[in-house]
Amino acid sequence: MSKVKYYYDPDTLSYRKIEPKKSKRYRNVLFFLLGASLFGFLGLLFLLNTNLVNTPKELSLQREVSNYELQYEILDKKMEQIENVLANIQDRDNNIYRLYFEANPIPEEQRKAGFGGVNRYKSLEGFNNSEIIIDATKRLDIIQKQMVIQSKSLDEIAILAEEKEKFLEAIPAIQPVRNEDLTRMASGFGWRTDPFLKTRKMHRGMDFTAPRGTPVYASGNGKVTRADNNSSGFGKHIRIDHGYGYLTVYAHLSKYNVSKGQKVKRGDLIGFVGNTGRSEAPHLHYEVWKDKERINPINFYYGSLSPQEFENMLKFATQENQSLD
Ligand SMILES: [Zn+2]
Repeated sequence: MSKVKYYYDPDTLSYRKIEPKKSKRYRNVLFFLLGASLFGFLGLLFLLNTNLVNTPKELSLQREVSNYELQYEILDKKMEQIENVLANIQDRDNNIYRLYFEANPIPEEQRKAGFGGVNRYKSLEGFNNSEIIIDATKRLDIIQKQMVIQSKSLDEIAILAEEKEKFLEAIPAIQPVRNEDLTRMASGFGWRTDPFLKTRKMHRGMDFTAPRGTPVYASGNGKVTRADNNSSGFGKHIRIDHGYGYLTVYAHLSKYNVSKGQKVKRGDLIGFVGNTGRSEAPHLHYEVWKDKERINPINFYYGSLSPQEFENMLKFATQENQSLD
């Protein structure tokens, strides 16, 4: 409390109070107003800062941000669907397509590998929603990489499929004489009695008994490498190189329908049954070679015989009878 001051008034011969100056009063009022407005201003700042009060612009920005958040959630669901579909394609790729074409499956680590080294997502850091944005970007990057790997794998498979198709068309997969043209299945692959020497000899081909002039067909796609009479015992014969290590021989023909160097397709008429060379009766002696070894042709007729026909063929061909050579 401020001291009350007095002075001596000689006119009234009494002590009187000294009144404070007017200017000082004004100053106090000013101080009060200043203090109040400062307090009010700080209070306003506090309110604005605690989101209790928002400007219209802030409100619209807030709505925009929550819309983005919602959109990211939707994108997240969509990415999950894409990841599932992609996983299914990759599974089929590894376990069906690549398996069928004898290509090694692509390891999981290679398909799902992320990106090492520098932090690719640094520019996305430091914001309120950084985590959700970085996560989505990472997922998309991985999906993109997986798509590239999958696409390359399918390119590889397309090439293998084309190769496989060529291979399947090339291998000797049908009987060289039509089943209905056969008078009987004479002799198969194995130990047989030689028709001339009457001793047991390995017969490394198959004999098809049919009348002279019966059509003989190429058993697979290939190129005629021989069509001549210059091989001992075979008489007029044809050799076809099918590639992939396969070769077929058609012997004792009466006539050729192709010449050396000619390309043939499976089922093309290449010549006619005869009795030329070391042959006892009209028949076709047929050989299948794989990697310079003669193998049993009976395993290759699946393309042209019914199961019943194949069974009959097998029965005849495995009989230890006399070959026609
Ligand atoms: Zn034979």
